[in-house]
Amino acid sequence: MEEAMHGDTRSKLVLCECGKFHFTYRSMTLHFEREDFFAFVDSVARLGTLVKDSANGTAHHPAAVQN
Ligand SMILES: [Zn+2]
Repeated sequence: MEEAMHGDTRSKLVLCECGKFHFTYRSMTLHFEREDFFAFVDSVARLGTLVKDSANGTAHHPAAVQN
């Protein structure tokens, strides 16, 4: 089992024997197929960028963004 621990230990990624990724963030654990995990990572990164961009220079930013 390969394990990658983020420096601050809030998040953890385990490549399980079953071939899936177990992504843990604080008390949440998500069980992903490999390709779903990478789609999830891309999606979170995009959404994070959208939220940051929309928060720039304004007090008003959307309560929800989607892609
Ligand atoms: Zn597993």
